[in-house]
Amino acid sequence: MIRKNRLFTPGPTQLLPSAQLAMAAATMHHRTAEFRALYSKVLADLKTFVGSKNDVVMFTASGTGAMEAAVSNLTSPGDKVLVVTAGKFGERWESLAKAYGCQVDSVRAAYGETVSPEQVKAALKPDHVALYMQASESSTGVRHDVEGIARLLKGTTTLLVVDSITGLGTTKFDVDGWGIDVIIGGSQKAVMIPPGLAYCAVSDRAWQRMESTKNPRYYFDLRKERKNGAKGESSYTPSTALVAALGAALDYIREQGGGDLATGSDLLIRNAETAAAMTRAAAQALGLKLFAASSPGAALTAITSPEGVDSSDIVKAFRNHFGAVVANGQGEMKGQLFRIAHLGFYDYLDTIAIIGALENVLAGVGRKVELGAGLKAAQQVYAQSSASKATA
Ligand SMILES: *Cc1c(COP(=O)(O)O)cnc(C)c1O
Repeated sequence: MIRKNRLFTPGPTQLLPSAQLAMAAATMHHRTAEFRALYSKVLADLKTFVGSKNDVVMFTASGTGAMEAAVSNLTSPGDKVLVVTAGKFGERWESLAKAYGCQVDSVRAAYGETVSPEQVKAALKPDHVALYMQASESSTGVRHDVEGIARLLKGTTTLLVVDSITGLGTTKFDVDGWGIDVIIGGSQKAVMIPPGLAYCAVSDRAWQRMESTKNPRYYFDLRKERKNGAKGESSYTPSTALVAALGAALDYIREQGGGDLATGSDLLIRNAETAAAMTRAAAQALGLKLFAASSPGAALTAITSPEGVDSSDIVKAFRNHFGAVVANGQGEMKGQLFRIAHLGFYDYLDTIAIIGALENVLAGVGRKVELGAGLKAAQQVYAQSSASKATA
């Protein structure tokens, strides 16, 4: 059969066609009224999308750029920080904080597991200037308890920094209510556009902290970007094409919400939750084990490769037979699991299709599979979901 190339990876994700068109049409100079209007609208819409009253700052960079900003701007050499880590992205926080001369304490869980607030409570010290964590650990599919950990930090001077790069658009947060000081997103995830933009919402407390922190920063200077952002500009030449694409993507999310962006953002989250629940049910019905069984997130589903099967063969079969790109395990997890994304531009039809493909791929690697068993389980989850009732 013919193959359509489709991304089912947790970043980059499938592109939104209207955003692709907006990119192609973006012949714009960044120091013009036209671009300032677009940039201001995108920054304002991102606040709504993130769900915070805090100012949003954007960089032309992959998501790690905003992670680096959250370390370099909020710490001084020798500062003590606490990192919650249970995967490759948690480990990135540790490396980043060390690169900026911080003393790093870590609360760790095994790959596929999450860290409990009790563990964090036991490790948290008054002199930790910041706690760095993921909302969704994309390397394992785990969802961390941001709300529970945020509660521990109330009344302390420890800033809460959440890499929510696959959390935004897949997970409900009360950013200001819980007291998340910095929440970070990236363009190639739930907002359905190519990699190259990183953004974050920053609290008053965090802005104040920056007045005294001493680590070096130049391109990733949050205060400088905030100042220029208020005028509809970025400090340097931004990726105008990606900003245009992001504008179109946020318009699409608003349209899906019947003209209201906050409603559209909630719908996007429920969409991912439904697709994730369908995929988990299908995997289990097919006799597969979930890699993050105790705390699975909605951004992606990580599935353990069956006994004796290298997940690289599963990833290859998806691509060769169906044109579907799913992700292998990262680092030491390569070969042991595969990951199917739900964040962004994935609908019911995509979800059913990837589950149908999964059944064939498993049969192809020599597993005994009852064709249709995974689909049946997914259909049942859908039929019982609020999604099936919402569109009468
Ligand atoms: C994608 C991702 C990042 C950012 O990676 P970049 O390659 O720099 O865009 C960071 N954290 C998580 C959890 C991610 O999924």
